[in-house]
Amino acid sequence: MRLLSDFPQAPLGCFPTPLQRLSNLSDLFGKELYIKRDDMTGVGLGGNKVRKLAFLLGDAQQKGATVVMTTGGAQSNHAMLTAACCNRLGMKAQLLLKRRGVSDPVGNVYLDGLLGAQVDFFDTDDYGVIYEEMSRRKTALAEAGEWAYEIPLGGSTALGALGYVECFRETLAQCAHLGIHPDRIVSAVGSGGTYAGLCVGADLFAPDVRVTGVAVDRAPFHQICAQLKAEIGGLLELEQPLGDDNLEIYDNAGLGYGIPGPAEREALELMARQEGIFLDPVYTGKAFSWLLAQLRSGALAEEQTIVFLHSGGAGGLFAIDLPENSPCNLEIGVV
Ligand SMILES: *Cc1c(COP(=O)(O)O)cnc(C)c1O
Repeated sequence: MRLLSDFPQAPLGCFPTPLQRLSNLSDLFGKELYIKRDDMTGVGLGGNKVRKLAFLLGDAQQKGATVVMTTGGAQSNHAMLTAACCNRLGMKAQLLLKRRGVSDPVGNVYLDGLLGAQVDFFDTDDYGVIYEEMSRRKTALAEAGEWAYEIPLGGSTALGALGYVECFRETLAQCAHLGIHPDRIVSAVGSGGTYAGLCVGADLFAPDVRVTGVAVDRAPFHQICAQLKAEIGGLLELEQPLGDDNLEIYDNAGLGYGIPGPAEREALELMARQEGIFLDPVYTGKAFSWLLAQLRSGALAEEQTIVFLHSGGAGGLFAIDLPENSPCNLEIGVV
C-alpha cells in the first residue's frame, strides 16, 4: 500500500481546518452536531477544492506544468480556487467555463477576474466540447514551449480525491482528541470526488462511521463514486479492492443544480442565525437541508454524534437571486 505522504502535495491551505461543535443546533435537536470547517482551507474564500488541488497541483508541479486548464459552470468554485492556487504557485490558470445563461460578472466570475485568470465562456451544455478545446490548446501550447496540465470538472479524479481520504483521517483524529466518535459524516456530492474520498477514508480508518452523500445535482452518483473508489484503491495500491457497500447517497437536487428552493434557503438562514456560519446556496445549503429534514423527522434517532462537512462555496452567496418576498431582502430605510 502507498501512503498519502507518498504523493507530492503543493503547499496550499491551512490544515487542520477547525472542527467545531454547533452548540445551538445541538441543543435544538438534542444531538451532538459538529461542523468540519473546510470553508476555512485558507486560499481564496476557502472550500473543499483546495484539498484536491494540493494533490493535483503537486502533480502538475512535479511534471513541470506552466499552465493549468480546468472547467466548470460559470459560478464554479473549483475554477475560481484553481486560479487562486495557481497564483500562489506561479502557474497560469485558464478557465474554460460553461456560460449557461449567466451574464453578470458577480460572485465567482468577479473573483476570477480579480485573480487575473484567463476566462473563456462556452455556449454549450456538453463538457465534451470543452475537453476537446482543452486538448487543442494543450497541443498549441506545447508548440510554444508551454506544458499544460488539465484538471477535469471539480478536480474529481482519484488523485484529487486523496484530499478527502486525508480529510477523513484528519477529522477522525480531531474527534479522538475531543473524546468523541462520529456516528455519521454528511457531505454534499457535486462531482463525487469529495464523497468518494471520505468513503475510502472510512474504509481505511473507521469502517463503523457512516458516510452520507447528499447529491445536489442529478447524475448516476452511485456508479461514479464506486468507480472513483476503485480508482483510488488502485492509486493507493491496496491489497483488497474497495467495494461500494458503504456508499449511501441521497438525492436532494430539489429544483435542480444551483437553484435553491425554500428548504435550502431556510437551511442557510438557520445556520446563519443559530451559529453565525454561512452555508452556500448550491452545495452545503442543499446538503444541510437534507440533514435538517432527517433530524426533524427523527430518522437518525439511533445516532448521537454527527459531523457536517462545510465544503465552502461562499462565492455563490454573492450570485444568488433572492425572491422578492425573501426575509433576507432588507429594505435600506432610514430611522
Ligand atoms: C465542488 C463543491 C462540492 C462538491 O464536491 P465534489 O467533490 O465535486 O462532489 C461541495 N461543496 C462546494 C462548496 C463545492 O464547491
